[in-house]
Amino acid sequence: MAAPWQDVVRDAAAVREAAAVAVDAALLAGVLMRTGEQPNASDVVNYAPFTLLPSAVPRPLFEQAYAVQQDFNLLVDAISQNKEFLAQTLASTIKVDDFTARLFQIYMQVLEEGLAQTVFLGINRSDYMFDCGLDGTGALRQIEINTIAASFGGLTSRTADVHRLVLKVLGKNEEASHLLPNNPAKGLALGIAKAWEIYGSQRAVVMFLVEDIQRNIFDQRCVENELWNRNIRVIRRRFRDVFEQGSLDGSRRLYMDGQEVAVVYYREGYVPQTYDQQNWEARLLLERSRAVKCPDIATQLAGTKKVQQELSRPGTLEKLLPGRPEAVARIRATFAGLYSLDEGEEGDRITATAIADPDSFVLKPQREGGGNNLYGEELRQVLEKIKDSPERTSYILMDKIKPQPALNYLLRAHSPLRVSECISELGIFGVYVRQGQELVLNQAAGHLLRTKAIEHADGGVAAGVAVLDTPYLV
Ligand code: ADP
Ligand code: MG
Repeated sequence: MAAPWQDVVRDAAAVREAAAVAVDAALLAGVLMRTGEQPNASDVVNYAPFTLLPSAVPRPLFEQAYAVQQDFNLLVDAISQNKEFLAQTLASTIKVDDFTARLFQIYMQVLEEGLAQTVFLGINRSDYMFDCGLDGTGALRQIEINTIAASFGGLTSRTADVHRLVLKVLGKNEEASHLLPNNPAKGLALGIAKAWEIYGSQRAVVMFLVEDIQRNIFDQRCVENELWNRNIRVIRRRFRDVFEQGSLDGSRRLYMDGQEVAVVYYREGYVPQTYDQQNWEARLLLERSRAVKCPDIATQLAGTKKVQQELSRPGTLEKLLPGRPEAVARIRATFAGLYSLDEGEEGDRITATAIADPDSFVLKPQREGGGNNLYGEELRQVLEKIKDSPERTSYILMDKIKPQPALNYLLRAHSPLRVSECISELGIFGVYVRQGQELVLNQAAGHLLRTKAIEHADGGVAAGVAVLDTPYLV
C-alpha cells in the first residue's frame, strides 16, 4: 500500500526543491499558525507543520470511515440524551476523576432545572488508525471520537492544494489529479448556520468560545469566514469574558455585552487547566442558557474515554441504537479492544495482562488534547503502582494499534529537512443538528489526515508531534 513516490523520497535534490515550493504554497494557501513566541499576535506567523508528500491510505478503509460517520453522529446524539447510560457509565470514574465529576455535576444541575436549549448541534471528529494485521491486510480501528473542540477542519481544507502542487513539481501530474477535494470548514459552518437559523433570531450572533492563548486562530477563522459569507455575525470570547459580561434574560436567552447569542461553539473547555472557579461559573451559565451549545455538556461527556470503553461491551450499542442493526454492525467493525479497569475480577485480569505485555496496550486517562496516554515501560510502572487502588478506575486500557510505517518528510518551521518513518491517523468530521426530537441534519463533513514520526507514541498537531497531511487513496 505504498504511495507511488517512494522512488523520489531518497532523491535529495528533488526533495529540497519540492520542499521550498511546498512551504511557500502553504503560506499562500493560508495553512498558518501563530508562533510559540507570539501566540496572540498575527504580526509574525508561520506555516502549520505538514508533510511534504501525501500519505497512502487504503481506499476501502477510507470509504469505510466515511460510511460509518452518520452512524457515529446518531450514536453520540443518542448517548447525549440517555441520562441513565451516562450516569451508570461514569459512576466509577467520577468518584476518582475530579474533572469528569465537575462536568457531570453541571450536567445534573442543568437537567434538574430543565433544559432551555431546544436546538442541538454536534460537531465531532472520529479518528482512526490502520492496523496492519499479521496477514498484511489493514483494518480501520477507531482511536477515539472527539465531541468537543475537534480542530484542523479549517487548515486541512487548504492542504490538498499544496500537496497537488508538490506532486506536480515532482513530475507526478497524474497522481496530483487524484487528490480529493476536502472542505470541512464549509461543512462545519453549514451545521453552525443551520443551528443558528433554527434558533430563529436574525440579530443573534455565533460565539466562538476560545482559549486565552490562540495559536491556532487561523483554523478557526476558516470556519468563521464561512459564517460571515452567509451574513452570520461571529464574535470570539473567552470563559473570562463570559464570566464578566455574560447574562441570561427571563427566558434564559444568552447575552454577551448586549448581543444575543444563538450558538456557542466551544474551541476550549476540554482540559481541567481551563477552569478556575469563575470559569466553571461561566460554563454553568452557558449550559443553563437557551443558546445552542456545540457541544452541550451531555455531548462532551459522551466523548469521554470511559464512554468509549463501555460502548465496546457486548449489547451496549444495541441498547443505545435500538432497531438499527446495520448501524451497530458498522460502528462495531471499527472498534479496537477496549477494557475497563474498574475494581473487580475483570479489571484485575486485564491489569495483569497489560503488566506482562505493556507494548500491546495503551493506558488512557479521561483527558483530551494529546500527551496524556501511557505506553510501554511507563504504562507498566503506573499500572504496578495503582493496580490495587481505586485510582485505577480513572483510566481505561486499549489495544495498541500498529500501522505500517512509510517514509515522508515532516515540514516544520526551523527544523531540518530529513526523512522520517511515519504513521498516519485519519479523522472524519461529522455534523448534525437536532430540533427537539427531530434530526434535521446528519452528515460527514470532510476529513483530516495527521501524520507523525514513529518515535512518538502520542500526540496531535497542537501538541507539536503530528503534522497535517493529505490522503492519497491506493
Ligand atoms: P487525545 O484525546 O489526547 O487526543 P487519543 O486517544 O486520541 O487521546 O490519543 C492520542 C494519540 O495517541 C493518538 O493521536 C494516537 O497517536 C495515539 N494513540 C491513542 N490510542 C492509540 C492506540 N490504541 N494505538 C496506538 N496509538 C494510539
Ligand atoms: Mg485524539
